[in-house]
Amino acid sequence: MLHYQIGQLIQERCTSCYHNKLKIIKVTPREFSEKVAYNIWTQCPECGMNDHKLTQKDD
Ligand SMILES: [Zn+2]
Repeated sequence: MLHYQIGQLIQERCTSCYHNKLKIIKVTPREFSEKVAYNIWTQCPECGMNDHKLTQKDD
């Protein structure tokens, strides 16, 4: 079960304006050999900067 949801704010630093929260705009699965990871696409609510990070399902 994904614990990341579209529209959710996560604690992450914007690389452009250094705002400390980013909004999730898209989540896409990425399959590796044995485990599933996700690309979390984020947007800064302050400056509109788009970014993404890779996260693993099991934590
Ligand atoms: Zn920003």
